[in-house]
Amino acid sequence: MGLPISLEFFPPKTPEGADKLRAVRQQLYALKPEFCSVTYGAGGSTQDGTFNTVREILAEGVDAASHFSCIGATRESVRAQLAQLKAMGVKRIVALRGDLPSGYGLGGEFHYASDLVAFMRAETGDDFHIEVAAYPEVHPQAKSPEADLRAFVAKAQAGANSAITQYFYNSDAYFRFVDDAHKLGVDIPVVPGIMPITSSTQLMRFSDACGAEIPRWIRLRLQAFGDDTASIKAFGLDVVSDLCEQLINGGVPAIHFYTMNQSAATLEIVRRLPR
Ligand code: FAD
Repeated sequence: MGLPISLEFFPPKTPEGADKLRAVRQQLYALKPEFCSVTYGAGGSTQDGTFNTVREILAEGVDAASHFSCIGATRESVRAQLAQLKAMGVKRIVALRGDLPSGYGLGGEFHYASDLVAFMRAETGDDFHIEVAAYPEVHPQAKSPEADLRAFVAKAQAGANSAITQYFYNSDAYFRFVDDAHKLGVDIPVVPGIMPITSSTQLMRFSDACGAEIPRWIRLRLQAFGDDTASIKAFGLDVVSDLCEQLINGGVPAIHFYTMNQSAATLEIVRRLPR
């Protein structure tokens, strides 16, 4: 039995996107994922798309995890959606705070993901395997690295079963985070989230917003490739495969891929893994 792998998708916005994602999933199922997760727009903006994609994955015979964000939500709305997910046969939820688009204000009855985890455990017992987010390079809104680590510990103590990290390209940050969490008594699996590099502009845009650091040497190399997408992809495969190898050699429990609804890079990285 090799290292468990999980795959993340976002809900497609168009029927063409849905068709394309179906084809991508079929290619990626060759990797025998432990589960596939589907992101959820904060404020419920993608709820239908998320739940529909989750339904399709379950119907394809693969375990599906729905992401679920609580920012701006009420207890009543969360209760209703959890009941809907349970009725769909969902057994795994990635429980998040989420980020509301600017202008929405905070509102809602949940402030942090730990509130959602505690609510889920109180309301639904052990119905769901609860995943939470972890930030080896520190969440961008955290008061300090220490405060962010404590926020992670609070999610574990509220009842999370395991965690998936924000992506990173520096394995030291991941191993230190896991060690620090252990020292505070948290021993739930922390699965590294891996973002394949297939485009330079897309990566820079995402990373600035989510607090993932692109090491200077990677940034400079990507910039130097300009529009040469073949070189960007080849370089990206080398960098991310090396990262995965370091993580596997360091004993990670599993690997979670941010597929960006594409199959080629994830398939090639896994093909190169020492699993
Ligand atoms: P929290 O754990 O609540 O943390 C948010 C911030 O609050 C952190 O800075 C933390 O340090 C701080 N904090 C926490 N508790 C306290 C406290 N008690 N007092 C003071 N400060 C505190 N977003 C989506 O919208 N949809 C998705 O599907 C989605 N999927 C994701 C999947 C993964 C694996 C990851 C890593 C992120 C995902 N995100 C998603 C992004 C996520 O919603 C954002 O990073 C969001 O800003 C934080 O969510 P969280 O669940 O980590 O929040």
